Amino acid sequence: MVIGGGYAGLSCALALARGGASVIVADSEMAGFGGSSRNGGQANGGWNMIDLAAPDQGAMRARVESGLESQGHFEELLAREGLYDCYEPVGKFVAAYVPRHYDTLRRKAEWASANGYLDAEEVAPENVHEEVGTEFYHGGVRFSRGGLVQPARLHAGLLARVAAAGATVASPVRIDGFRRVPGGYSVETTAGDIRCNNLVVTTNGYTGSATPDLQRRVVPVASYIIATEPLADEVVDALIPRRRAVSDTARVLTYFRLSPDHRRMVFGGRASFASVSPEEGATGLHRMMTERFPHLRDVRVTHGWKGNVAFARDRLPHMGEADGLHWALCCNGSGVVMMTYLGAKIAQRILDRPNAPVCAFDGTGSANQAFPAIPLYNGRPWFLPVIGLSYRLRDFVDRLQSAR
Ligand SMILES: Cc1cc2nc3c(=O)[nH]c(=O)nc-3n(C[C@H](O)[C@H](O)[C@H](O)COP(=O)(O)OP(=O)(O)OC[C@H]3O[C@@H](n4cnc5c(N)ncnc54)[C@H](O)[C@@H]3O)c2cc1C
Repeated sequence: MVIGGGYAGLSCALALARGGASVIVADSEMAGFGGSSRNGGQANGGWNMIDLAAPDQGAMRARVESGLESQGHFEELLAREGLYDCYEPVGKFVAAYVPRHYDTLRRKAEWASANGYLDAEEVAPENVHEEVGTEFYHGGVRFSRGGLVQPARLHAGLLARVAAAGATVASPVRIDGFRRVPGGYSVETTAGDIRCNNLVVTTNGYTGSATPDLQRRVVPVASYIIATEPLADEVVDALIPRRRAVSDTARVLTYFRLSPDHRRMVFGGRASFASVSPEEGATGLHRMMTERFPHLRDVRVTHGWKGNVAFARDRLPHMGEADGLHWALCCNGSGVVMMTYLGAKIAQRILDRPNAPVCAFDGTGSANQAFPAIPLYNGRPWFLPVIGLSYRLRDFVDRLQSAR
């Protein structure tokens, strides 16, 4: 049984059903209610795992390799399932918020290219307009791997494939708890108790009290998105000329793209670290968008929404198993490709019973050390407003210093 009907749950269920297992996916809301229908559509795996300051460079390389594998898995899945038309393989531009970040990006790009991981290319400050129509950024890095998806179309496509493969998707059905019974689990749901051999938790930013031990390891953080009214062709063409996925390196980061019909700006970010309404979030995002693109000041915002991502203490994704309980959690803001991959990896673990970890994010065997709990935390992220304030302050100081 799979708890959560997002990309991770569906990708796990699809692989399990295709492998001959009997599967139920339960979602407490409509399947797709979580991040998987409302995300920014940036589909990139690998780059964000590069950390040249990581104490264990070998482990870091393994994470980059699993990250790149997740990208390959994603593209193969879309092609195999006839879903490739949800995807534009336009690549990515990462924009430097301050000059110091440009140096870090350049070093990461050099490392990625030298090691044959990604064909990443630096974009000098004077050439940023090739990628984004603003003077705001201090250079950046581009690469052609990855791109953009239409999130809800992808989710709907996966849902249809899961049903066609013979799995049952039960929603709205909430899991309230479970207990170990011989050979598996008895799961308490709003539709009655269900027995299963394996229980898979893919609740990411919506992880709750039904899985208290995991809840203590997962910090939900709200992310907000706005979309503008349709823009004139010449405005759109200058805004993101190569139509790539774009994100920046601010601590309170923003990410943006053109809508799939290439007529609107779709702009996302952590507008607030307290969980505010989409309307309040939209006000903050509008400010962030017009800071970067002052010429959009008079453009109307027609849509705004929010959803939860999930962070781990070590800011890494995690999967694992203990006693027939499996999990794939903590996208850390980038889960379109990663959570889809981890869901499939859990299915591999259930079907093939491998002895070794199935990827660099698999903590099976040493799960409690590998997936750290957070001290003084039981699921209510009381510390986020403080972290948010400190991020804003440090971003502000960084920009001030770089303006001198
Ligand atoms: C606004 C926003 C923008 C984002 N932008 C990007 C992006 O551009 N690129 C990127 O890579 N990632 C992005 N993400 C992250 C990405 O969307 C997620 O990582 C991904 O969708 C997670 O998939 P999932 O299946 O793990 O979880 P989700 O899709 O969040 O699904 C979890 C599900 O679990 C269900 N659930 C929870 N508790 C229970 C229970 N007790 N019983 C039954 N069901 C339960 C919930 O209802 C929910 O549907 C964004 C997320 C948000 C919110």
